Amino acid sequence: MIDLGTNAKNTWCTGCGNFAILSAIKAVINELAAEGLPIENVVLVTGIGCHAKIVDYVNVNSFYSLHGRVIPPATGIKIANPHLKVIGHSGDGDAYGEGIEHLIFAAKRNIDITAIVHNNRVYGLTTGQYTPTSPEGYKGRSTPSGTKEMPMNPLEIMLASGATFIGRGTSGALASLKKMLKEAIAHKGFSIVDILQTCVTYYNMYDYYDKRVYELKDHDPYNYDQALGKIREWDYNKDANIPIGVFYKKESPVFEESFKASGNGDHNRDDIIKKILSKSA
Ligand code: SF4
Ligand code: MG
Repeated sequence: MIDLGTNAKNTWCTGCGNFAILSAIKAVINELAAEGLPIENVVLVTGIGCHAKIVDYVNVNSFYSLHGRVIPPATGIKIANPHLKVIGHSGDGDAYGEGIEHLIFAAKRNIDITAIVHNNRVYGLTTGQYTPTSPEGYKGRSTPSGTKEMPMNPLEIMLASGATFIGRGTSGALASLKKMLKEAIAHKGFSIVDILQTCVTYYNMYDYYDKRVYELKDHDPYNYDQALGKIREWDYNKDANIPIGVFYKKESPVFEESFKASGNGDHNRDDIIKKILSKSA
């Protein structure tokens, strides 16, 4: 067991759902390392927000990017060195607001990276403004009378965009979250896991999720229509039950391999690095 902790002081609010995600990702990295994945091949990429502090608390290679821009550096890192396991952490404002176009194109390309969205349905770090997944009527700093917009269903967009692994977990169901994150990271192709992560300070949804969340059973993740039906069962707004689990899976060629096969990319990476180093010496 590798100690993946750091000396950074944890500044998340007590009870924040981010703690469960931190615990899950550390456990998964440890399991993958025990199964032979070199720890130096793991790279975490974050955007900006409460979620982003996760890279301060996990002792692996990481890249702190700009708000909404997790996917571009994650894509670049993967193309530059396809041996790496590149895992992007984003918030919901980060991924589904500023960064939605990047997610769509990552899904369309089927680049072999994993997007983990800490979906607390508010902008937590900036004190509770509404995001694309806040429900209609949500009252926050920017919408004191309640937002008039309907929330979007990001997983439906991901399915339509070509994502080859789509799952949803919650910060309240740690065992299934760990299992799904491991499956998503192992998946060859673009994987996204939307995590309903409770923000205790600005949008405490523990009771709401406790009453409605259930684990998918007898679901065929290779069936597109079944996946669409389950993804649509709860629209981030209505008072319906909320399925969690792997909605969709598909095997498809991955971008970085097609990119190389077409004559692009780096065929002699080590030689090129040696050449660059010899010039700078
Ligand atoms: Fe967590 Fe919300 Fe506190 Fe941010 S503001 S650390 S999301 S509880
Ligand atoms: Mg958020």
